[in-house]
Amino acid sequence: MVEAIHLSTREEREQWLKEAHYNVFQLKAEQVYIDLLTDSGTGAMSDRQWSVMMLGDESYAGATSFYKFEAMVQRIFGMPYVIPTHQGRAAENVLFSLLVKEGDVVPGNAHFDTTKGHIEARKAKAIDVTCDEAHDTQAEVPFKGNVSLEKLEKVLTENKGKVPFMVLTVTNNTVGGQPVSMRNIKDTCDLCHQYGVPVVMDSARFAENAYFIKTREEGYADKSIKEIALEMYAQADAATMSAKKDAIVNMGGFIATRRKEWFDGAKMFCIPMEGYVTYGGLNGRDLNAIAQGLDENTEFDMLDTRIRQVRHLAERLDEYGIPYQRPAGGHAIFVDADKVLTHVPKEEFPAQTLTCELYLEAGVRGCEIGYMLADRDPVTRENRFGGLDLLRLAIPRRVYTDNHMDVVAAALKNVYDRRETVTRGVAIEWEAPLMRHFTVQLRRL
Ligand SMILES: *Cc1c(COP(=O)(O)O)cnc(C)c1O
Repeated sequence: MVEAIHLSTREEREQWLKEAHYNVFQLKAEQVYIDLLTDSGTGAMSDRQWSVMMLGDESYAGATSFYKFEAMVQRIFGMPYVIPTHQGRAAENVLFSLLVKEGDVVPGNAHFDTTKGHIEARKAKAIDVTCDEAHDTQAEVPFKGNVSLEKLEKVLTENKGKVPFMVLTVTNNTVGGQPVSMRNIKDTCDLCHQYGVPVVMDSARFAENAYFIKTREEGYADKSIKEIALEMYAQADAATMSAKKDAIVNMGGFIATRRKEWFDGAKMFCIPMEGYVTYGGLNGRDLNAIAQGLDENTEFDMLDTRIRQVRHLAERLDEYGIPYQRPAGGHAIFVDADKVLTHVPKEEFPAQTLTCELYLEAGVRGCEIGYMLADRDPVTRENRFGGLDLLRLAIPRRVYTDNHMDVVAAALKNVYDRRETVTRGVAIEWEAPLMRHFTVQLRRL
């Protein structure tokens, strides 16, 4: 699809952002010129995806669309049991309803916000076990998404009997779309299994992760993306998937597992929460589009084109000297806001402020992945300032041209050039108790 976008004036954007309480989630999409809020559900479907949508079987139970979808998930992930859900967080909700109890501990390599939300909402604890390199944005490390096996082992030994599973996120979204190596996937699974702990792979960008294994890890250059994906999942117990990312559909998700007892247990939650187990909140046509998207986006050329576009934006930022999480990740560039807006104190949310500045500059909408998103500690209710404070520029799949990327880079350069003049950030006027970043209302200081 091709759609028109509108260039607004700075005065208009100032008014709109004020009305949106300095939270870009509250903007209307038509007030945005280039929308890099997320790569989730924003990709352009292919001709083949649109054509299989016409073959959607909308039968309530046992639709042919379900069996096509199931067969594709089995082929790509090598797991026999598949439950569709309406998106990734719904897959988490269904599976975690079965597995997570009050007082549990769930280690993971930087849990995604909804994943953490689903754990904490059940009064369990999510513990980050990402490797330390991930927190140094300027270190050029090929697999910054990796799990620290020492940190993981510490959690496993200190919480025996309280860990229902470990979440392994590929790619590691929260630390910058950074990949996890095949070596680390295998070592993580081995370690967990030694402790009798299953591994659930959060798989939104599994194909991008497979691309990085092929292009960066020794021994994989001659393997296909599909072969690599099968190997990635060979030891995992289950996968939750947001099909809005690497299956390039606008809505959809699923659970896949090799554990029959999890499948049987999760079905009982799927029916009241998502719908009958052969549609899980999705239309038959959507299931067809997911199956086609999974097949296409596990081909090298598709991934290569996408990841080169992300790298193109990174190269522009390199020219301008703008610091971001290095090397460029799979789906986005994460600008290191702490290193850009050095005069804005962390209590005033530098990345959120930079997000506002970029929108005001050129109508480009990014997304804060920083202190606002990190939320408050569930026990102390203090802001969590321990992690990175990033502005994410997420690039939708097959939507924008490299020329759009040049506009984004130029806009960011303009902000960067006047960074010394930005000395104050934002203050919270209202926030929700959980996952506040979507609805938070701010005041500009
Ligand atoms: C997007 C995402 C989810 C949640 O999926 P939705 O489809 O947005 O509900 C979970 N984990 C990761 C890593 C994601 O990127």
